[in-house]
Amino acid sequence: MAAHAKTIEKLLADPAFQGEVRIAEPMSSHTTYRIGGPARWFVRADSLCALTSVLEACVRQRMNWAIVGRGSNLLVSDAGFDGVVMTLGRDFRSFRVDAEEPTRIMAGAGVLLSAVVQESFKRSLAGLEFAVGTPGNIGGALRMNAGSAQDYIGERVTSVTVYTPGADLRRLSAADVQWGYRQTSFAPDEVILECELALQEADPFFIRGKMEANLKRRRASQPLNMPSCGSVFRNPPDDSAARLIDQAGLKGLRIGGAEVSTKHANFIVNTGDATASDVRRLIDEVRQRVMDAYGTQLTTEVRFLGFK
Ligand SMILES: Cc1cc2nc3c(=O)[nH]c(=O)nc-3n(C[C@H](O)[C@H](O)[C@H](O)COP(=O)(O)OP(=O)(O)OC[C@H]3O[C@@H](n4cnc5c(N)ncnc54)[C@H](O)[C@@H]3O)c2cc1C
Repeated sequence: MAAHAKTIEKLLADPAFQGEVRIAEPMSSHTTYRIGGPARWFVRADSLCALTSVLEACVRQRMNWAIVGRGSNLLVSDAGFDGVVMTLGRDFRSFRVDAEEPTRIMAGAGVLLSAVVQESFKRSLAGLEFAVGTPGNIGGALRMNAGSAQDYIGERVTSVTVYTPGADLRRLSAADVQWGYRQTSFAPDEVILECELALQEADPFFIRGKMEANLKRRRASQPLNMPSCGSVFRNPPDDSAARLIDQAGLKGLRIGGAEVSTKHANFIVNTGDATASDVRRLIDEVRQRVMDAYGTQLTTEVRFLGFK
């Protein structure tokens, strides 16, 4: 084993390490696509100290690393990831409401977005109804600026705490971050640790009504019974990727076990035995055919891990 790998191995084997380490862990167990080869090390860091010690070592040893949430916007290659895949555990999964200003919520990056949506509803706080039914963690949601056609999480954020290996922790105000359509200005090596959200008090019946309408729309239009990563492509300006793909006649197009959903054209679903290569080839095929038909270049919303 190379010296740099031994250093990481030693660190992770330390009984005092706060977290869990799995070796050659199939990433198919950690993505909503249920696709993906092994991560050389799959590490759940339960404390800031565990997180920083591993990532500082990765940087010193020039070892590849990646941070993932619930893998709901991720396609991991069949070869997997030759490095450390990090997730956020115990100390990043807490959630609290400001005692003096109960419309402000502090959430760790490892908290499920759906848990924050439900808790806000219970406290009659409005502002996150658009996120009902969106899988993933707060960290992934902020990184992707998760949202609907009209709303996105960045609009509710007042501050974010981030950590960059080799640098200090930083608390950013919302204005320090550029919140675009399914994209943000967080650097690739910036790990989101927690955030503060500002919501508004509202009538619980109003909140529930909006949540139910959003869920109903989602259930009616999305293939929620099949593994996917949600929308594959970003909508082009003033257009809809689903509309272009549908009008190009691509619903139902298959490569191996990957299929352009017959229910929602911007979803590519895993029909059971799809490989990452099937999905990747189908993405390229759809992109090419939309380009040929309409001259529009589709760009992907899904993130890729472990591809050359
Ligand atoms: C059925 C379905 C429906 C969906 N509907 C929507 C929708 O309505 N709107 C929408 O916007 N998205 C939707 N998505 C996509 C996905 O749920 C969101 O993008 C989600 O916010 C991703 O969160 P995650 O924790 O799963 O992130 P992951 O998929 O694990 O990671 C996504 C990206 O975020 C990065 N990341 C994760 N955690 C951190 C962190 N702590 N610090 C820094 N970077 C981090 C990863 O490196 C990666 O680049 C849907 C997906 C599915 C499967």
